[in-house]
Amino acid sequence: MTFGIWILGNQLSPSHPALQQIDECERPPILLIESLGFACDRPYHRQKLVLVWSAMRHFAAELTQAGWDVTYCIEETFATPLTDWINRYRLSEVWLMEPEDIPFKRRLERYELPCPLKFLDNTLFLWSQTEFLDWAKSRKSLLLESFYRTGRKRFQVLMNGKEPEGGTWNYDKHNRQPPKGDLQPPKPLSFPPDEVTQAVIEQVKQVSPEGGYGQIKGFAWAVTRSQALEVLDYFLQEQLPQFGPYQDAMVTREETLWHSLLSPYLNLGLLHPQEVIQSAETAYHQRNLPIASVEGFIRQVLGWREYMRGLYLHFGPDYAQSNWFDHDTPLPEFFWDADKTDLNCLHQVLKQVERSGYAHHIQRLMILGNFATIAGLSPQEVEAWFHAAFIDGYDWVMQTNVLGMALFADGGRLATKPYAASANYIHKMSDYCQNCRYDRRSRSSDNACPFNIFYWDFLLRHRDRLKDLGRMNLMLSHLKRISPTEQAQIQQRAQDWRAAQGG
Ligand code: FAD
Ligand code: SF4
Repeated sequence: MTFGIWILGNQLSPSHPALQQIDECERPPILLIESLGFACDRPYHRQKLVLVWSAMRHFAAELTQAGWDVTYCIEETFATPLTDWINRYRLSEVWLMEPEDIPFKRRLERYELPCPLKFLDNTLFLWSQTEFLDWAKSRKSLLLESFYRTGRKRFQVLMNGKEPEGGTWNYDKHNRQPPKGDLQPPKPLSFPPDEVTQAVIEQVKQVSPEGGYGQIKGFAWAVTRSQALEVLDYFLQEQLPQFGPYQDAMVTREETLWHSLLSPYLNLGLLHPQEVIQSAETAYHQRNLPIASVEGFIRQVLGWREYMRGLYLHFGPDYAQSNWFDHDTPLPEFFWDADKTDLNCLHQVLKQVERSGYAHHIQRLMILGNFATIAGLSPQEVEAWFHAAFIDGYDWVMQTNVLGMALFADGGRLATKPYAASANYIHKMSDYCQNCRYDRRSRSSDNACPFNIFYWDFLLRHRDRLKDLGRMNLMLSHLKRISPTEQAQIQQRAQDWRAAQGG
């Protein structure tokens, strides 16, 4: 049998199972395909295209240098260059790693190729697909906390025998502080584009010309595994010690705070979650770092990341159509052009995404996702926007994060209550309200903060459904304090806004 290896663009891992499984002397040919048609599937952020294609080209060059016979194709589609390559090498089988994204796997299964594709287990996560599905089948409730504790025990991370390090599983109460005083976070590492990246930038300018989404100028992401390791090292040295306290804070012009910026590299296969977790734990022991920060970070990677991917597989493809609230307001234009909104919090976060493709978790959840939920935007339009706009966006990580966590569009299969909040939360956790033309204290005046209008309108519109979620009762009880006249004013303002959006 003559087989070849096809390496997908988000599986650029030195521990790729096909590369591991073969005899050094009989190296099969390798294929990578840069599909220009991919850029037309969605209006991807231009830096995302640069990142993926540049990382692929660097990875292919490293494999060639290591002696592999690599074919690198730049073509419109996947099927044509794949077929040509199979014929050229007279292959009887093509090995590839199971794709993370269900729609992409389905697309591959529809190809009519001269030889079969053999899918190898995806090894880019700690939990295999079967292991997660077995865990999920064995449980009545699929809470993150119990999955996370199982993972801590299974992989012996931050454990003292059977007990959690420090005596507690979760140090959240020490974290999540509001931004007070003059915070001085470290500047993120940046990598000026080398020749390879510059060539990709020129190509992306052709494929996605001015008018496409996202600034290309200022591209500074890592594009190789060694650069990604530098980002990890910098995080461990400079950011991990303070990761916990300001994990949820939002500060104008401090876009990354103490966040790791590791998701683009984890999601491309340049880093493996196990090495990230292990190095954080080693740093904790060697440098006596604060347990609250280290545990808080490890929970993100060992807990949330694995859990969101596992639930994506568990819920299956129909999950993408979830719309529990029947929200159907079209996505406002300002999501594609931050200058079209005068809500300062939205403006700051959307502008930042335009500049870099990045926003940290609370900006995604409590500014963008929260707004989309309470304003009643169509979940599918919001998900499509996130998928296109973010540097680390892929189907497997988008569905559960956007539809489940941010929008509660699945009616609580993932989260126990909607992350809905008024200006009070945003004012507490950020400095955005200080420079906003809206009145954060008002909920119904002409100048009332739209987050307040939508928040109360959301509770009014959906109170019958929400009252069945026990954790919403406190929020709903506050409706009694608003007179019927003011409630009507709030609802009218929200309706007028939705009507103006075409919803
Ligand atoms: P840090 O704050 O430093 O966290 C460390 C790591 O934990 C991240 O790199 C990431 O790998 C992992 N992580 C933490 N939370 C999650 C989570 N909920 N799901 C998956 N991984 C997690 N993450 C993506 O990787 N791609 C996305 O497209 C994406 N879209 C999101 C959309 C919404 C609406 C929300 C609420 C969250 C989304 N997330 C996504 C999860 C999370 O916000 C990002 O992983 C994180 O902000 C990336 O920045 P960082 O690397 O600096 O993370
Ligand atoms: Fe956002 Fe309202 Fe604060 Fe303005 S006042 S920044 S719109 S929460």
